[in-house]
Amino acid sequence: MLSKKTFLSALFSFIWIPIFAQVERIEPKNWWVGMKDQSLQLMVYGDKVGETTPSVNYAGVTIKKVHRAESKNYLFIDLIISSSAKPATFPITFKKEGKTIFTQSYSLLPRKKNTAQLKGFTPADVIYLITPDRFANGDTANDVISSLREKKIDRKNDYGRHGGDIRGIINNLDYIAAMGYTAIWPTPMLENDMPNSSYHGYAITDYYKVDPRYGTLAEYKELADKARQKGLKLIFDGVVNHSGSFYWWMKDLPFRNWINYPDSIQITNHRRTVNQDPYASTADKELMVKGWFVRQMPDLNQQNPFLSAFLIQNSIWWIETLELNGIRQDTYPYSEKKFLEQWTCKIMNEYPAFSIVGEEWSTNPSIAAYWQQGKLNNSGYNGCLKSTMDFPMQATLVQALTETEAWDKGLVKLYEGLANDFVYANPENLLVFGDNHDMDRLFTFLKKDVDLMQMALSYLLTIRGIPQIYYGTEVLLENSAKPGDHGLIRSDFPGGWKEDGTNGFTGAGLTREQLRIQSFLRKLLNWRKNKTVIHQGNTKHFGPAKGVYVYFRYNKSETVMVVMNKNTGVTMLDTNRFTEMINGKSQATDVVSGNTFSFGNEISVPAKSVLILELK
Ligand code: CA
Repeated sequence: MLSKKTFLSALFSFIWIPIFAQVERIEPKNWWVGMKDQSLQLMVYGDKVGETTPSVNYAGVTIKKVHRAESKNYLFIDLIISSSAKPATFPITFKKEGKTIFTQSYSLLPRKKNTAQLKGFTPADVIYLITPDRFANGDTANDVISSLREKKIDRKNDYGRHGGDIRGIINNLDYIAAMGYTAIWPTPMLENDMPNSSYHGYAITDYYKVDPRYGTLAEYKELADKARQKGLKLIFDGVVNHSGSFYWWMKDLPFRNWINYPDSIQITNHRRTVNQDPYASTADKELMVKGWFVRQMPDLNQQNPFLSAFLIQNSIWWIETLELNGIRQDTYPYSEKKFLEQWTCKIMNEYPAFSIVGEEWSTNPSIAAYWQQGKLNNSGYNGCLKSTMDFPMQATLVQALTETEAWDKGLVKLYEGLANDFVYANPENLLVFGDNHDMDRLFTFLKKDVDLMQMALSYLLTIRGIPQIYYGTEVLLENSAKPGDHGLIRSDFPGGWKEDGTNGFTGAGLTREQLRIQSFLRKLLNWRKNKTVIHQGNTKHFGPAKGVYVYFRYNKSETVMVVMNKNTGVTMLDTNRFTEMINGKSQATDVVSGNTFSFGNEISVPAKSVLILELK
């Protein structure tokens, strides 16, 4: 009796169709005709594919060089794709000793119109930061994926999966746009096939795959398209420093040095100052950049040129596929400096109007400033990073508002903090924020004081920079029960789950205080949208006095006066000090209340409040 296998091979030999196996993977998954950089390096993975010789017979596509890896199961192919190549799917043939072992089809797509001009985020935007697992569950069918290692959702577990997804974001784009945000930054949505705590997305196990618990690539594209239609830019959260320990290639690395410390894990020392410190030891520098972020996240060795090319092309693939507006790059100072230069500059060369913001978690402005394009550094780094995160100002803002011993003392910190802008090449492009997914909620930092919350948000939305607001800030999400607890910091947006009793999207069941902050934010965000005086205007501020800090944003046609009053009583502000800015104007419109009033030598400022006044 014929075995099934013999029977099939007999059948195939009878009908005489040569069947060649396909390789397991070829990445990038596809490419485009008409990119500025015509070179492309394919990473091919398949059983002993490294012992074969690839060939391409397609007009406009040539193989420039073939590289073999240490593992026989990889091949790296350098292609040149001329602008005359026709977008189509063509075969790549892999032969050994004259015999074809694999044929693999590869697709070149036509480049969409205008992708070379993709517009980045700018100071005219306000970014809504979303933790997708915790925002809204739009599709319960994808809550549990049996083929993945973490097999359940559990909303009672702060570190478990809660079921939020891309569909949940799509369903609420109207809410986000109506609030007045102009960009969304979801934390990473690529596959994190880790055994537990994978909800945060920073342990990627496949750089080319959307995590099925968030949805499909088609849904990610739908999110990008629908967001664009509603005037919302899309920012991608990139992670190139490390991957997840369950990444598919960990079982069979192309090169031993694909990751750092492949045999004996060393954890990074997190000594982020070594990147700037003229006295830093080699040992400290090496461990900072090469050490693993945590045990579950192997550190990628970007000195390996094949890995470097892989990561750069992967970022470009996502930009081109989703028509992104920006990338937020995780753990920026933990990567190799030379790689960061190449990664940022190659992206910006392909997309000159694009934006990238790097996460440098330092409260020292000199260190944050180091990474920004245009900053003159003595040595070591000259990348094309437009934006860095203003962690210094985040810390200062919280200190300034919560300082209770002397009101002025706190406000002076804010005043002096802004004075540090002289160290930045471009302070307008700093990302300003009160909190994010890695630190206590702003409302928790501010000891659940709604007045202080309103002051902090007013500051973030009127000062220079690109504001970023964390989802749920508008309904006062907080984590006071467990300060520092990441799972709780990323708690569920009320109304994102159909069983929720309160609904932040509709307002149903919200407290008076939640509604107050939500409507305040909606008003201020929508006002800010068209205010070039805030986006591009100049700034001038006056030293805090008697518990009040005053700053102006101004251009040729507009003047906005912001008065921050920390006093617990109504304060009469003497306007004579500000003559150089007020310059004869005598009418003020309160942006939040809409009231217009005349003023002379004094303005009455309510207790513990901010006035945002348009002067005429
Ligand atoms: Ca779901």
